[in-house]
Amino acid sequence: MAIVLPPLPYAKDALEPYITAQTIDFHYGKHHQTYVDNINKMVVGTPFEGATLEEIIKKAEGGIFNNGAQVWNHTFYWNQFKPKADAEPTGKLADAIKASFGSFAEFKEKFAASAVTLFGAGWAWLSKDASGKLSITQESNAGNPMRHGLFPILTFDVWEHAYYLMNQNRRAEHVGNIWNIINWTEVETRYTQG
Ligand code: MN
Repeated sequence: MAIVLPPLPYAKDALEPYITAQTIDFHYGKHHQTYVDNINKMVVGTPFEGATLEEIIKKAEGGIFNNGAQVWNHTFYWNQFKPKADAEPTGKLADAIKASFGSFAEFKEKFAASAVTLFGAGWAWLSKDASGKLSITQESNAGNPMRHGLFPILTFDVWEHAYYLMNQNRRAEHVGNIWNIINWTEVETRYTQG
């Protein structure tokens, strides 16, 4: 069965001014779509034909890994946003953040630093391990923490295509902006259900 580009859970201008409709047109409509088109072509005649994206992320190498992981990473990224988001997580996720990082403010500072200092293209991730402990990691290019046995719950895309039309080279400005649109209810669901 072919891998498809999932619909966005909001209108393409719903995240403005933090992520503009123009950036959605390119980042979702062109980049994400291209990863979907590529993976469907690349798996034909390989052991990954019919595999799930999770299987591809855990086992594939090279172009199949890169394109399959990028499809999953971007879907995961889009699904964590909403317009007019709550400012802070609540419940079990808030407790876990406090236990792992001291406070929400300290977590934000560490996560933003991870996103801003990642060299080149990649993703900053918040993940939990089997015991429920949270950790922040950087992954280059299409990297995904599932590859290392972690369960991801939040990610910031810091490839230049994620922010260049809005913020040009000012990655830190973009990272600062997207805290305003995080759907913490979705992130907490990932934390409690994973
Ligand atoms: Mn991207």
